Amino acid sequence: MGAILKTGLRLHSDGENVQFYLDTLQNTMLSCKPRTIGSNAYYLEAEIVPHLKEKAMPALHIPVWTTWHERLGHPSDNVLPHFKDHTIGFSKTSLVRDNKKICIGCIEGKMTSKSFPISDTRASKAFELVHSDLKEFPTKSYHGFKYYISFIDDYTSYAWTMNLRTKDESLKALQQFLEYIKV
Ligand SMILES: [Zn+2]
Repeated sequence: MGAILKTGLRLHSDGENVQFYLDTLQNTMLSCKPRTIGSNAYYLEAEIVPHLKEKAMPALHIPVWTTWHERLGHPSDNVLPHFKDHTIGFSKTSLVRDNKKICIGCIEGKMTSKSFPISDTRASKAFELVHSDLKEFPTKSYHGFKYYISFIDDYTSYAWTMNLRTKDESLKALQQFLEYIKV
């Protein structure tokens, strides 16, 4: 019985039957009956459940914000309190954020790319090393440009950008740039 209570279930008895429930008696998980009326020995009416179901049961009984935030793929704070209304068998206790700790997974997920490591080497002449990046505008321009490609010369720090309608135009832009800088 101790092991069951340690999972977070509560115990209720009406003098005859014994029930283990989650937060309210409507969420009864185990119901035990006495072997005979007045007997102290109780038996559990149960059946052997398939392996997967067996594993899922303890997983449902942990109404902890962090656990469910991670299990459900890091939803926002506004989403998780609605979880109980859209699931069957889950505790009706509201999931409240138990700490204001920053979630590393959420931060990493919002990063588009990692910064380049700091470099202390520079090119020794113009166009020896050119940095290039293809970026997307948040909204398409009046003339239908959705992307731009940048070229930054490492030696002079001069920069060129070209607007593109589609990503595949970047090859043509690169050829134009190479033609432009040809000495
Ligand atoms: Zn997160």
